[in-house]
Amino acid sequence: MTTLLINHPETDETATDKSMFGGAPSAPAGHLDWPTCGQCGGNMQFQGQLQNALESSLLLVFMCQNDPGCCEEWDANDGGNKVLEVAAHDLQLVTPSEDGETVRSTRYGATLVSSAEANYDRARAQWSDAAGQSPRQVLGKIGGAPMWIQHDETPECDACGQPMQFFAQLEEGPDHRTAMNFASGCGYVFRCGCTQPASGKFLWQC
Ligand SMILES: [Zn+2]
Ligand SMILES: [Zn+2]
Repeated sequence: MTTLLINHPETDETATDKSMFGGAPSAPAGHLDWPTCGQCGGNMQFQGQLQNALESSLLLVFMCQNDPGCCEEWDANDGGNKVLEVAAHDLQLVTPSEDGETVRSTRYGATLVSSAEANYDRARAQWSDAAGQSPRQVLGKIGGAPMWIQHDETPECDACGQPMQFFAQLEEGPDHRTAMNFASGCGYVFRCGCTQPASGKFLWQC
């Protein structure tokens, strides 16, 4: 089985409590300092947020896009991206920093669609055929196992040293003009619950 993330144009500009991509992130008031890049020191760009299965937290994914390709933003450990977990209560839209490339202008939501197909690529193709829509409408998948483009790069948790738990695989997005920039590859989100809030890591491959 594969749980696909399917593009769902968001009509509520103020929605905060869902899996969303682009625009501004959600966090409880005062709980998010806008993350900066460990390579260039600039403000990172918000990519999207993913709700956990219990709807009790959001994982916010950021990546430096101030000088794409120069901050090792594909690497889980080199400081060019960041995953932050926030509790999913009293959520507010966080005003993005105006300094740097901090926002993707197209904001879109995601609905979860179960496929009986375990292979992600086949599940994506089957959904596209059945729905009569572009595979670009598939935003990725939640849970299961990562479908690596290159070799297995499961990161280790900085707190406990164990391999992190795979959380989601992400495509660049439905609109190529404002898509995430994975050099036409896929992003991978990992989480470890050994700390509170959980730690997260992100990487991409192409
Ligand atoms: Zn940077
Ligand atoms: Zn850990």
